[in-house]
Amino acid sequence: MPATGAHTIVIGAGITGLTAAYTLLVNEPNRHVTVIEAADRSGGRIMSGEFAGHIVDCGADAFLARVPDAVDLCRQLGLDHLLASPASSSARVWTDGALRQLPAGLVLGVPTDLDALAASGIVSAAGVARAAEDLDRVDWPQGAPGADPGGVDDQSVGNLVRSRLGDEVFERLVAPLLSGVNAGDADQLSLATGAAQLASAARTHPSLIRSLHEQIEATRRAGADPNAPVFAGLPGGTQMLTDTLGAEIIRRGGTIALGTAATALRRDASRWLVDTANGVLHADAVVLALPATGASRLLASHAPEGAAVLAELEYASVAMVTVAVHRANLDCDLDGSGFLVALTDRLPALTACSWASSKWAHLGDPDLAVLRVSAGRHGDSAALALDDEALASAIAKDLGTTMGLRGPLEQVRISRWNEALPQFRPGHLGRVEALRAELQAGAPGLLVAGAAHDGLGIPSCIRQARTAAEQVSEQGF
Ligand SMILES: Cc1cc2nc3c(=O)[nH]c(=O)nc-3n(C[C@H](O)[C@H](O)[C@H](O)COP(=O)(O)OP(=O)(O)OC[C@H]3O[C@@H](n4cnc5c(N)ncnc54)[C@H](O)[C@@H]3O)c2cc1C
Repeated sequence: MPATGAHTIVIGAGITGLTAAYTLLVNEPNRHVTVIEAADRSGGRIMSGEFAGHIVDCGADAFLARVPDAVDLCRQLGLDHLLASPASSSARVWTDGALRQLPAGLVLGVPTDLDALAASGIVSAAGVARAAEDLDRVDWPQGAPGADPGGVDDQSVGNLVRSRLGDEVFERLVAPLLSGVNAGDADQLSLATGAAQLASAARTHPSLIRSLHEQIEATRRAGADPNAPVFAGLPGGTQMLTDTLGAEIIRRGGTIALGTAATALRRDASRWLVDTANGVLHADAVVLALPATGASRLLASHAPEGAAVLAELEYASVAMVTVAVHRANLDCDLDGSGFLVALTDRLPALTACSWASSKWAHLGDPDLAVLRVSAGRHGDSAALALDDEALASAIAKDLGTTMGLRGPLEQVRISRWNEALPQFRPGHLGRVEALRAELQAGAPGLLVAGAAHDGLGIPSCIRQARTAAEQVSEQGF
């Protein structure tokens, strides 16, 4: 149990910091909890706002529903009755000058139905034949993680998928899907952090496709519906989640100090001292729920090796360009959730396009279609260097190329997210584990959580936050 009057400071009021503070207050109603946030709003990378008469997200608009964390938090906050599944889950990929329907049976872009793959026309006959070679594998390739089924070896997604199913499947299916999540290069992405389902499939069977079939069968045997919706969202905007967490923190006696950046973290004989422009705060435990650069700076003298690892973590900056266009001006049926762009068919600005009005029933409109267009990727900032007007024109041009847009953009909103999406390289999870061990050994009561660590999706952030809060309680700080 914590000492009477124990105080925890959570630094950063994104989904991670807010969930950590809320969990602490739920588990220990008498604990003092203060969240300090540099910006003048809470929510971090999660933001929703009015657009074309609807509430439309400026960042995340959905979270994985096949892992329990986010749905469970919504239930705990009384938001579960509001959850909605996407109205359409089928998507397309821009390749060879056309928007082509993705085949059924993809798992993170890996095809489990080769007939559907062949029928999609996305991959050539030679590409399908190359993918089919995976079915004949009876042994793991030398040195691959499967050679050591219980091992924790990590490699890049590109390395695994190119070697098992060939370049075409990787470049036209897997890479676009994963780049749609992290705006990065799947040839360098850690398999364990960025595609955990493929990592476990690669370990359990030498054929990736057969292993995924086994996973699907196991899901069915466990009584779960393998066709259940993969994602869920909040029609009032994802920000409802962070707003509700904030309101609950205040209602339970916690404090959220906006416009209060932590500038240094020190330790005296028994407590942590957090320097801010508004003065010094004292705490028994501190949860850092920050992007890597800020966390690295505060950790430098307490966990130098881990801080150096975080300092090296690269990020992609992106822009979410939300546009409203007249449906009559499109040469495209909008039947689906949107489209991705193949690695082989890159466009000048657009990297992915979500057909928000088709994806979400509550955004449906007979006349205007709302599209959420992503721009910018790791290592290519050309589109982001454009001013808002030029970026909007570049996006309109790419929508002309892909969807046959003829008329103007009726409304435009540009949300720029600098250094937003961490780029996990092979071995990342091991480095994070070492950071946590370094903290446990030398910095009692100092914990880290959030997108830079175990994974960038909202459920992962929630899971990490809850674990950090539980550790603060268990360790009695
Ligand atoms: C465009 C976009 C689309 C996305 N789409 C999805 C999606 O559909 N589904 C999904 O699951 N995930 C999605 N994500 C990822 C997900 O939204 C983020 O990874 C997640 O919200 C990060 O939460 P966090 O709390 O870890 O960090 P953040 O949200 O970055 O919060 C960190 C907070 O710390 C504050 N801070 C920084 N330095 C200091 C300091 N020194 N002192 C005090 N405060 C400080 C920051 O201002 C910020 O508020 C998307 C991300 C982006 C950018």
